[in-house]
Amino acid sequence: MIRCLIYIDPSETECSLDLIEAARQLHEGPFELTGVLCDRREIPLPRVLDRLIQIEQPDNAYLDPAQVAKTMHERYRANGYTSILIPATPFGRMLAPRLAMLLGTGLVADITQIRRNNGVVEVIRPAYSGSLMACIRFVGDGPMMMSVRPNVFHDMVKEIRAMQIEHLVPQLGEKRIERVWVQRKQISCDIRESEVLVSGGGGIAKSFAKIERLAKLLGGQASASRKLVDAGIAPRSIQVGQSGKTVSPELYIALGINGAIQHIEGIKQTKHIISVNINKDAPLGSLSDIVVEGDADRFLDLLIRRIQQYQQSE
Ligand SMILES: Cc1cc2nc3c(=O)[nH]c(=O)nc-3n(C[C@H](O)[C@H](O)[C@H](O)COP(=O)(O)OP(=O)(O)OC[C@H]3O[C@@H](n4cnc5c(N)ncnc54)[C@H](O)[C@@H]3O)c2cc1C
Repeated sequence: MIRCLIYIDPSETECSLDLIEAARQLHEGPFELTGVLCDRREIPLPRVLDRLIQIEQPDNAYLDPAQVAKTMHERYRANGYTSILIPATPFGRMLAPRLAMLLGTGLVADITQIRRNNGVVEVIRPAYSGSLMACIRFVGDGPMMMSVRPNVFHDMVKEIRAMQIEHLVPQLGEKRIERVWVQRKQISCDIRESEVLVSGGGGIAKSFAKIERLAKLLGGQASASRKLVDAGIAPRSIQVGQSGKTVSPELYIALGINGAIQHIEGIKQTKHIISVNINKDAPLGSLSDIVVEGDADRFLDLLIRRIQQYQQSE
């Protein structure tokens, strides 16, 4: 029986459950699906797993990826899994290499695609700062282990499974991490959840306020290329791309963005792209449904005015 183990990050449950789609693409045919969740709280999860192992440890232990890796390693030794998938969230990125080391297996980090070549599974991940995509095959006895970039796979199937819940209180090792204080970061909205993104790049550095205005009028959010983030014009929380966020809106309006590979990496799941650029041959144009050749600032002025006129006439 093919068995898959996924880690569910309690702070990012939705993208953790999207690992199910990655598991589906990894294994052809039926497979048993077990989730590991480290949290004492009752976290409402849909019934999409065969088994949920809820690890209950004192508060501080949840912060220690080494403790979580140790517990998952013990479960692996008891049950054996064909594959282990971990979301590449901040905690997942700390957990995955520790677990791989305990398992003595290789880890493919931050994968963005799974495919089959003559029946052989291949996983794809950005390499050399995203300037090329590496294609990796699994050899050896396994388990196949990988961390998966958030928001790339989406579990649309939501297959109902038995969802047996097992509570586990493991023996803790020596306490290595202590929580001193917690600061909750104020994130007003997450660009990954927006249906419409209006995104600005190097060609529109002086007009970022207008980008926010257009985004609001369209019921969406503003986002940016790294160029504007590095220039201190836009916050890092709204950066799209390889070192920013992977987004999947219905509509992505790119203003003055050239389309570097690291930017494209973050918008591959986007449904429709409109790009505005003085250079009609900018690389992003080849991915766009509509390319507007011209000044992005003027485009913003005209579109904002047109929407406002429309709203007033309603
Ligand atoms: C390790 C690494 C990670 C990276 N991660 C990311 C990432 O996550 N996200 C990301 O975006 N980048 C990332 N980058 C940077 C990336 O390589 C590019 O440098 C960056 O995306 C360029 O941003 P840009 O297209 O907005 O700006 P530019 O490259 O400056 O392009 C500006 C564009 O605007 C056009 N333009 C100029 N004036 C106007 C005008 N008046 N009206 C309309 N168009 C105009 C130009 O023709 C050009 O196409 C990363 C780089 C590295 C090395």
